[in-house]
Amino acid sequence: MDSNSAQSKAPRRKRRKLPRSFKELTPTQAFSPRAYFRQMVWKALLTPRGGQRKTPAFPRLGEKQVAITFIGHASFLIQFADLNVLIDPNFANWLFFMKRQKHAGLKLKDLPQADLVLLTHAHFDHFHKRTLRRLSSPRMAIVPWGVGDLADGLGFDRVLELEWWETFSRGDLRVTLTPCKHWGARVLRDHHRGYGGFLLEYQGRRIYHAGDSAYFDGFKEIGTRCTPEIALLPIGAYEPESFRSVHMGPEDAVKAFRELQARWIVPMHYGTFRLSFEDMDEPLRRLRGLIEKADLARHLRVLEEGVPEVF
Ligand SMILES: [Zn+2]
Ligand SMILES: [Zn+2]
Repeated sequence: MDSNSAQSKAPRRKRRKLPRSFKELTPTQAFSPRAYFRQMVWKALLTPRGGQRKTPAFPRLGEKQVAITFIGHASFLIQFADLNVLIDPNFANWLFFMKRQKHAGLKLKDLPQADLVLLTHAHFDHFHKRTLRRLSSPRMAIVPWGVGDLADGLGFDRVLELEWWETFSRGDLRVTLTPCKHWGARVLRDHHRGYGGFLLEYQGRRIYHAGDSAYFDGFKEIGTRCTPEIALLPIGAYEPESFRSVHMGPEDAVKAFRELQARWIVPMHYGTFRLSFEDMDEPLRRLRGLIEKADLARHLRVLEEGVPEVF
């Protein structure tokens, strides 16, 4: 019944040397633990958590309609009439010592049962075990290569690992792991873990979640091969400059959006966790300005956390 087909050759897996310290795990040479603590942990601690958990009014969907609910950060619920998909669900109020700055848009208990959970990579802000454990009997998880063991014991009936450009298909549903420019290690010695984005295709609709990624020329190929319609693109965690080797800023996201040739750009990965040094409201502000200047306003859909939007 299931068919998983490798559609092209496996990704190149460059062996990286093992990191010796937290400093090496962070994508900046200018890492200073003291500045990090003062700027991010302490500032976040003193800021009251904003936003609101809403009781979501999930719409009744017809054939070929898709509703997208932004949960916050990189977490989304994607709904079709007969299919519920979660991507990178994370309802944590704390990631270790890092305080969530904005409430998740809804309560976890208000989620519909997920048929499928897509996890883009093993980083704690995307692969949140406590959230996954609390989901009501999720049926299946799809993860990049080398990440499956992390899903053991979390209640999934089935966990499937994909390599870049591999596709899982079942009937009309297709899920493809797409390349990105990021890294996969969750802790210190697990650089074997993969990472990517997902193209979700169902009922003729094509939704692309980029995962975490810096800008790279792979967006052109993703645009050509996948022709995404709705592009969920990260826009935050780009300061200092060196972070941009693993994360996109708003300029990069607009460039990527053009190359993807998608119809909609939906920004994500901003405003929830203080992962970097830019102001929390800067990514969206800058994105809006750039979109305006590029005359792309009709393509931008900024989703409010907890409010389903039908596309
Ligand atoms: Zn990441
Ligand atoms: Zn992230």
